[in-house]
Amino acid sequence: MTVLYDKVTLIGLGLIASSMGHAMKKSGLANTIVGFSQTKETRDMSLSLGFVDEITDTIEDAVSDSDLIVLSVPVGAMAAIAKIIGPKLKLGATITDVGSVKQSVIDMVAPHIPNGVHFVPGHPLAGTEQSGPTSGFPDLFKNRWCILTPLKNCNKEASARLKQYWEALGANVEYMEAEHHDLVLAVTSHAPHLIAYTMVGVADDLGRVTDKEVINFSAAGFRDFTRIAASDPTMWRDVFLNNREATLEILGRFTEELFDLQRAIRRGDGDQLFEYFNRTRAIRRSIIDAGQDTEAANFGRGSVE
Ligand code: NAP
Repeated sequence: MTVLYDKVTLIGLGLIASSMGHAMKKSGLANTIVGFSQTKETRDMSLSLGFVDEITDTIEDAVSDSDLIVLSVPVGAMAAIAKIIGPKLKLGATITDVGSVKQSVIDMVAPHIPNGVHFVPGHPLAGTEQSGPTSGFPDLFKNRWCILTPLKNCNKEASARLKQYWEALGANVEYMEAEHHDLVLAVTSHAPHLIAYTMVGVADDLGRVTDKEVINFSAAGFRDFTRIAASDPTMWRDVFLNNREATLEILGRFTEELFDLQRAIRRGDGDQLFEYFNRTRAIRRSIIDAGQDTEAANFGRGSVE
């Protein structure tokens, strides 16, 4: 495969960065992959896992002479990092991020990027509930979407090359306005995570009352919630703090619908419940048809209950 960037720097070496590193190694997209993370433990582990060629002790050394810099840290950490590395970036380099929220990242990072360095924000819609350098794998982005939200004055060549890079990692790429991205993701990811966190919290409270019955006899529906609710607390705290407006908008709509269904249950309105569930079942079908999930029952995990 063609080398797209001579030197790539991964800042933050968790699930997303380690998956990028493994995928780059597999496809030969970069000549050198440099890594930096805040703890020495993560840096050493990343080097021993082999998804980076070099690690550096300082973030300034990591970005020096780099052609592509990827910010792969929690959204709340990006501003401080951009401030430190901004003056050290090479003229003509591209800097991107993989943050789950886009507008606030643009607001926080863009002011620190010097003229002549191309900032192209991005978000791969791929992940698991696991985190850290050991959790990555090369196929994480395969057939998943990566959304790029370039700024109005963005260098076309830089954004086209980054698109090519994500495609080489296995992703399908779509361009979007940052604000629109944040609304779409509030519906498809952020609000569902908050609902899962809440449901597991409620069940845990109840578990204390019923001597852990909720945990011991948890059925597939609840187990799926617990998988989502096991996601990294720092990452998700930062998502909600940085996508506040869109998440609150969707949660408002969610609450209205929930009250409506609650009323249907109270009134014994089976038709309303049936029609609603019939409509939502079709959504699952369309996700499978789009190749974004498996058709196998219970996500291919065997028995359902
Ligand atoms: P992760 O596995 O928890 O890893 C985060 C990494 O960032 C760790 O290596 C951590 O370092 C490092 N870090 C944190 N603060 C730092 C700082 N101030 N300076 C340098 N390094 C720092 O996280 P992830 O899942 O890869 O997520 C990274 C980004 O991708 C987030 O912005 C998230 O919103 C986005 N994202 C996540 C998913 C997902 O499903 N997980 C999907 C798409 C996008 P140490 O280990 O050294 O402490």
